[in-house]
Amino acid sequence: MTDQVDPVIIIGAGQSGLAAARAALDTGFRPVVLHAGAGPVGSWPDYYDSLTLFSPARYSALPGMPFDGDPDRYPRRDEVTAYLRRYAQTVDVDIRTRTRVTTVHPRRDGGYLVHTDTGDEIAAAGVVAASGSFGNPYLPTLPGQDDYAGDLRHVAHYRRPQVYAGKRVIVVGAGNSAVQVAYEVAVHARVTLATREPVRFLPQRLGGRDLHYWLRVTGADCLPRRVLTRLVRHVAVLDTGVYRDALACGLLSRRDMFTAFTPEGVIWADGTPESVDAVIFATGYRPDLAYLKPLGVLDQGVPRQVGGISTTHPGLVYLGLEFQRSFASNTLRGVGRDATHVMTALAAHLSGRPRQDRQRRDAASRTGHGDRR
Ligand SMILES: Cc1cc2nc3c(=O)[nH]c(=O)nc-3n(C[C@H](O)[C@H](O)[C@H](O)COP(=O)(O)OP(=O)(O)OC[C@H]3O[C@@H](n4cnc5c(N)ncnc54)[C@H](O)[C@@H]3O)c2cc1C
Repeated sequence: MTDQVDPVIIIGAGQSGLAAARAALDTGFRPVVLHAGAGPVGSWPDYYDSLTLFSPARYSALPGMPFDGDPDRYPRRDEVTAYLRRYAQTVDVDIRTRTRVTTVHPRRDGGYLVHTDTGDEIAAAGVVAASGSFGNPYLPTLPGQDDYAGDLRHVAHYRRPQVYAGKRVIVVGAGNSAVQVAYEVAVHARVTLATREPVRFLPQRLGGRDLHYWLRVTGADCLPRRVLTRLVRHVAVLDTGVYRDALACGLLSRRDMFTAFTPEGVIWADGTPESVDAVIFATGYRPDLAYLKPLGVLDQGVPRQVGGISTTHPGLVYLGLEFQRSFASNTLRGVGRDATHVMTALAAHLSGRPRQDRQRRDAASRTGHGDRR
């Protein structure tokens, strides 16, 4: 263990925060994890009921603990939650649940002051922002949206399809969540996918093996965005064939994105109005990092970083950002690699700090003042 005095604070105890905590121990320091939720399981319990991992169990584990049971099955949401709860028990660090970080301020000596909604103010030698993006859903704004009287929600607030029985529903988006949700709602309701471009599919299985096997053996899983986007130019939905068939047989339909809302529904791109009971936006998420505003590290909500390491603030790192270092960064299978990378950088930074921390503490005790800077 390093002999740093102030702890490293990890914000969030989802898979990213837990992977960070484990990598910190492996690297030689013991962090403190502050987590807004009730248990160290991230946002998984809040995802929709039917959610099933798109990767088999054998490719979905965090470092050091495989999933139990058949490695070729696709674990469901509640299994992932249980897995993360068990994983947290294997990581010997102080995890403080029901503790939301409200702000992070810089200290003059290069450290940080972390404020929480429980009233604590914690001096930190380093900060790991691992708070995910589920708390910050992205909702576009269209003309007339505020006057629409139907049920409008982001997919973050969707749980199950039965509530849409017999209704006319539009799902906006061409990604995995959009197509999965549209498909299951279509069993109960009349559903159209509204997308800017045609929906594209990637086969879940190729040559008798799951796609994740090929991603691993070819190394595609580790490619940075600039390389991968040259090979794969469009968002594509993983499919065993059921979604493609649903579109082909008319269980689901697709139209170009509508241009505006009316009080009763939408106006399609060709100018046709239609009454619609509900619109679900599956339009993605943005990093949930508002607590970093006092540091001035955000550019329109997006952190200034390379590979998860802040380009403006030494000792500040990120985990779980989309495409942080590769296609797999924001997944169970990929976050462990990134955790090792950012924690190694953080450890190198911390190795220069212990003396400063001790000098500051000594000065504070001589003057009788606390350690606020
Ligand atoms: C619908 C959906 C399906 C997905 N399916 C898959 C899949 O099949 N396979 C896969 O590998 N990945 C999948 N992902 C992607 C990713 O693995 C998950 O989003 C995962 O939950 C991200 O983990 P995380 O730890 O980065 O963030 P989260 O799980 O969101 O955890 C972050 C935690 O930080 C806490 N927090 C936030 N702000 C603060 C604060 N200020 N102070 C303290 N705590 C805070 C939150 O309460 C949250 O619990 C999916 C994502 C979504 C949205």
